[in-house]
Amino acid sequence: MTEIPHWLDKQAQLHPNAHAIESPDEVLTFRQLQELSQQIAGGLYKLGVQEGDHIAILSGNHINFAAFIHAASYIGAIVVCLNTRLTEKELQFQLRDAKVSQCFADNDNYMKGARALKEMSDAISITNVDEIPRVEKETYEQFKEFIDMDEIFTMMYTSGTTGNPKAVMHTYGNHWFSAVASSLNLGLDTNDKWLACLPLFHVGGFSLLIKNVVYGMPIVLLERFDLHLVHKQIKNNQVTLISIVTVMLQRMLKEKPLNYPSSFRGALLGGGPVPKTLLHEADSENLPVFQSYGLTETSSQIATLSPSDSFRKLGSAGKALGPATLKVFKDGTPAPPNVVGEIHVKGPMVAKGYFGHPSVNDDYFATGDLGYLDEEGFLFVVDRVKDMLISGGENVYPAEIESVLTQIKGVQEAGVTGTAHKEWGEVPIAFIVKSNLDEVTKEQVTAFCQNRLASFKVPHTIHFVSELPRNASNKLVRRKLKDLIDGGGY
Ligand code: AMP
Ligand code: MG
Repeated sequence: MTEIPHWLDKQAQLHPNAHAIESPDEVLTFRQLQELSQQIAGGLYKLGVQEGDHIAILSGNHINFAAFIHAASYIGAIVVCLNTRLTEKELQFQLRDAKVSQCFADNDNYMKGARALKEMSDAISITNVDEIPRVEKETYEQFKEFIDMDEIFTMMYTSGTTGNPKAVMHTYGNHWFSAVASSLNLGLDTNDKWLACLPLFHVGGFSLLIKNVVYGMPIVLLERFDLHLVHKQIKNNQVTLISIVTVMLQRMLKEKPLNYPSSFRGALLGGGPVPKTLLHEADSENLPVFQSYGLTETSSQIATLSPSDSFRKLGSAGKALGPATLKVFKDGTPAPPNVVGEIHVKGPMVAKGYFGHPSVNDDYFATGDLGYLDEEGFLFVVDRVKDMLISGGENVYPAEIESVLTQIKGVQEAGVTGTAHKEWGEVPIAFIVKSNLDEVTKEQVTAFCQNRLASFKVPHTIHFVSELPRNASNKLVRRKLKDLIDGGGY
């Protein structure tokens, strides 16, 4: 058992009056965050929450989300982070699957949570997070003063673009090592201030709540990615780092010139592939981009590419962070450089398993993603194992075709999947959402692809659709693309 002093107590002791969390309408110092979290912990006790209980949070990005997770940590309760975009049915599945005893929701999500619970026979109560009683000091002697690295802190469902979602169990140690590994890579400056606009219920956003208390670094919390507010925070509020996904970078670059101050260190980009043209655009605007690769199971990024390598290794997700290792296996053995196989990872930030399912291998964890390492060991993510198709004996990666399609003027978004074919076994077909700025025809799309892709990768049919199927995490669900044909998506 490895124990460290409770991280929030530590920061409240080291720099009580330093800013911990800023939001557009409130600022909390580390001491205030500690006080609030402990009052809420007292309230949770009063509501009957005990050590080891599974308590769910269904909330947008608010300071009380942060206070809630710290409150749970003082008690030793496990926080189940629920995605606010889930339907009632999906919520019911996760609440039951995760064996939640009490659910806590913010104002915007309370009614949905209550409706979901009403139909369930399980005795799960729901409380508004903002209405948890604030209980003062008397009960505090029961609070945990130490954090046990091996204890489970959070459960988060993987996005489930394939099969049923599963709850990834993260220990305190997983989160701690993730935060430390990231700082060993990016460095930590005393002036750092990190902008949090990704949902806190996903590991990418959540990890900032941990960096906040592990580094003693202020974060700025926004309810969502609001372009105007993001620009304002970077330009006028000394934000030095921001975590984003590709679509956010696209939106940031729409308002050129950016003119970000030189104190801005850059954007940590994760969650999915990035079109190369976008990286060039960011570079021409002096916006440093740290491309990264990670999964819920790795407690956020496990590999990162520094901006200095960004063009030499265009499109790479970099190398494994300090305490982690990364291997590519093909047919059970490590693949030679530049040969595609399944990405495997190992490190103290990799979750031990899924709740209620056989545990993840203690050794290397198979990610379900395809990729290769080049001669210098830089990782290139190719696609998900399950999305690959085989056409005439050739491996076809939908993500590669999509990245070509999105370079076409007039193409806003693209999704590619395989369909059965008499001669080739399978062939790729494309689904395109047109941009409202430029016109594009199917013939133009095909001609563009023929110039850039081997013939077996050129989509056999092209469907113009109004939107692509995405899951609650906004990730493309390729297996549902074909439903658009019957569903009249044109
Ligand atoms: P999640 O299942 O929501 O935890 O998302 C993790 C998945 O996002 C990975 O398994 C990859 O399929 C995808 N992903 C993450 N980073 C990248 C990247 N740099 N390039 C391509 N795909 C990525
Ligand atoms: Mg996943």
